[in-house]
Amino acid sequence: MSNAAVFTITYWGTTGTISDPLRPEEVTGKIVDCLEELARRGRLAELQSASDVRTAIERELAVLPFHLRSTYGGNTTSVEVQTPDALMLFDCGSGFRELGRALSKRWNAPDYNGDRTAHVLVTHPHMDHSYGTPFFAPYYDPRNSFYIWATKSVFRSLQAVLDSKSNLSQVYFPPTYDMMKGMKPNEEIAPGEDFRIGGTRIRTFPLRHPGGCLAFRLDRDGKTYVFASDHEQQEIPDTALAAFAKGADILYTEGQYTQAEYEGREGLPGETPMPRRGWGHSTVEACVATALAANVKSLHLGHRDPARSDADLTRLQEYAQSLAGNVMQVIVPPEGMTVSL
Ligand SMILES: [Zn+2]
Ligand SMILES: [Zn+2]
Repeated sequence: MSNAAVFTITYWGTTGTISDPLRPEEVTGKIVDCLEELARRGRLAELQSASDVRTAIERELAVLPFHLRSTYGGNTTSVEVQTPDALMLFDCGSGFRELGRALSKRWNAPDYNGDRTAHVLVTHPHMDHSYGTPFFAPYYDPRNSFYIWATKSVFRSLQAVLDSKSNLSQVYFPPTYDMMKGMKPNEEIAPGEDFRIGGTRIRTFPLRHPGGCLAFRLDRDGKTYVFASDHEQQEIPDTALAAFAKGADILYTEGQYTQAEYEGREGLPGETPMPRRGWGHSTVEACVATALAANVKSLHLGHRDPARSDADLTRLQEYAQSLAGNVMQVIVPPEGMTVSL
């Protein structure tokens, strides 16, 4: 029995709705906050006299709160899952471009002679889950093989903007499908359909979202990862989603709003209150209740609202964890986070 991971999951984009890069004043604010904190702890004088100043600074920064020294990132949805026999990429938001750059570097390294195949699983065609497609460099390399698994509506929308014969060709992006020599024929799936990629069993589940959205459940060797992005829970807990995610090691779902924001009693940070019912997204409270009902080990709260700052996200994670108590771990996954099952 090998100790190798069954699923290695890396988050390349976890922001919901639209990309949200850090603004210049936010970057400056982080530098000021970190220096202020180090001064308060009386660490600055010691740093100045360290023999290796850079290493000493890195060591001091590493113990500061994550939202001060770093960022959750601002790219929209893109998640990489490596299994023992296949590479799977979930959704193609702006994080997909970053993933493409990393993949090109990996596959084009001088000593690399491994597989150049990946499976791209797309939840739905909304722009924040698809606009990274033409900016994914490995699609253009004829040595590569990409199989896209999605519903008819995803393929129809990609066709509309990327087929050179479509009226919308070159309206949204210059490239067209025929330039993407690494793309293989479509693997069309229907909501509720089960299929396999290598030794991994994949089940699908239709989520409640305007235009539709598909959740994926990956099972292999007793490990389970559920990727259930855009979804507006109708009941709390959502018994159908809880049944689909039952006993998962990780349930990734979305908690874009708090219950007060959803009902319009409170505004999102910096915004006036506005009810969000019918917008297709869930509350943190609903996600925690559903994850508890599903008896999952860990809840990953993705599709974070772009209005939230890094400090807001740390508070949101603490709030969600307080709702979950100590029976389940809750994480707001930052870009670059990798977990193995
Ligand atoms: Zn979305
Ligand atoms: Zn959506």
